[in-house]
Amino acid sequence: MPIPLTDLTFDNTFVRELPGDPQTDTGRRQVRGACYSPVQPTPVAAPRLVACSREVLELLDLAPDSCALPLFTDVFSGNRLLPGMQPFAMCYGGHQFGNWAGQLGDGRAINLGEVLNSQGQRLLLQLKGAGPTPYSRSADGLAVLRSSIREFLCSEAMYHLGVPTSRALSIISSGELVERDMFYDGHPKDEPGAVVCRVAPSFLRFGNYEILTARGETALLKTLVDYTIRTDFPHLGEPSPPVYLEWFREVCRRTATMIVHWMRVGFVHGVMNTDNMSILGLTIDYGPYGWLEGYDPDWTPNTTDSQGHRYCFGNQPHIGQWNLLQLANAIYPLIGDSKSFEEALALYNDVFLSGWNQMMAEKLGLSRFVAGSDEPLLNEMLDLLQLVETDMTIFFRQLAQLPATASHLERELTANPDQTLRPFAEAWYQPQSVTPEYRLRVSKWLTAYLHRRLQDKLPDNERIARMNRVNPKYVLRNYLAQLAIDRAENGDFSMVQEILDLLRRPYDEQPEREQFFSKRPEWARNRPGCSMLSCSS
Ligand code: AMP
Ligand code: MG
Repeated sequence: MPIPLTDLTFDNTFVRELPGDPQTDTGRRQVRGACYSPVQPTPVAAPRLVACSREVLELLDLAPDSCALPLFTDVFSGNRLLPGMQPFAMCYGGHQFGNWAGQLGDGRAINLGEVLNSQGQRLLLQLKGAGPTPYSRSADGLAVLRSSIREFLCSEAMYHLGVPTSRALSIISSGELVERDMFYDGHPKDEPGAVVCRVAPSFLRFGNYEILTARGETALLKTLVDYTIRTDFPHLGEPSPPVYLEWFREVCRRTATMIVHWMRVGFVHGVMNTDNMSILGLTIDYGPYGWLEGYDPDWTPNTTDSQGHRYCFGNQPHIGQWNLLQLANAIYPLIGDSKSFEEALALYNDVFLSGWNQMMAEKLGLSRFVAGSDEPLLNEMLDLLQLVETDMTIFFRQLAQLPATASHLERELTANPDQTLRPFAEAWYQPQSVTPEYRLRVSKWLTAYLHRRLQDKLPDNERIARMNRVNPKYVLRNYLAQLAIDRAENGDFSMVQEILDLLRRPYDEQPEREQFFSKRPEWARNRPGCSMLSCSS
């Protein structure tokens, strides 16, 4: 049964069990000996609901129409607190682009409270863009509408794709202007402001542990780790040194699994700093992320990373491990056994590699990955996809439709070569530039692939259904998010809702929305917001 908003049950373990900052103002400061600072959201002038996720309402036991109430808009813009809420900002540090950055913290995120839902799940409600905190450094604690729409849509899209992620309940425009220099090039602009309410069991990051070790606060580190295990990993048992290690191994496994999913759907996080790595293995902090259009391991949407490409698509698995190494260094004082950490980091590699192979086999419609013989097939496909700009989503989705038998394919290749190269050809961005040699390589690969597929003897309809469950038809293409933003900035929020609806069923055919299953239009190739984003949000 749905409940009214005022009946949400709060159980605020974080502020109850961990030490907080005695100061409650928003003066910027280094906060030592504490895991958080109590802080109030800053009220906004004219809150207005932009969009709301009905699935997240349901998760919170709220009725679908509760977001229409003025109270909802007031609470999730930060204008009003519900009984039981105890707002706070977390203290954390982090490695940014490979360098230790010291204290960062929730500079524009304010946690409202931990809801216990009727299923017994713990869900922390967090406002992003609700004003300054002690961790805001030189910034304003606010967020603009464009980045809020991106965070909201992507959180929900990832959830429906089956990727571990934080959720988003709502976006509310603030009715206030926020100044941003989108490309840090001396051209600041006033943009509409907004607040997103994010939801996850916990927003603890690797950086929450790193900051304590960097400051030599080992007793507090132990308190925080014990809290984390008791609250979010209770199945591991009572905290002790062997349990700490088991916990780290689980974080390694979860991180590897999350990144396999990213690689499956073509997601590039864009800023995999250790302060953006969730201890629960959830995708968090949607900033300058992007979705692969042409399959290109070297691609990153983040202009701040355009020199080094540290966080490009193909480097994400490696960075996951680098970040885990920083977490290992942070919790080392509790365990003091470097060999076990090395083994856990090797476990990350194993989990990633077997997950990647299994995932690729599923994308190709094979019942399992045969080590050795399937590798050349996979590698040749990835080479082909990179040699000619080929849309990843369209390619994999169309692969399921290939003729069922190899001899059938060979006949077709002779009779009608262009038609048969369809999974590739429909995904090519510049078909006119494709050489005859390349076409020949593609048709050889297709023949080898079909021979391999036939070995599995899966009935065709079953194979297609399986492939369609892992190869999405619809993803949050960068230009689609931008179109929804352009309209929303002009006061029309309908496309945000439309994209949200589309991405609720990413694996289903939606014939009435076929236009969203198409390559990125040429105008979007180099347009800011579509292919180029920065951390300015
Ligand atoms: P990010 O890379 O976006 O996750 O942010 C890195 C750090 O900068 C975090 O500590 C954020 O809280 C902080 N930050 C980013 N934008 C703002 C802002 N507008 N106001 C205050 N802090 C911010
Ligand atoms: Mg962040």
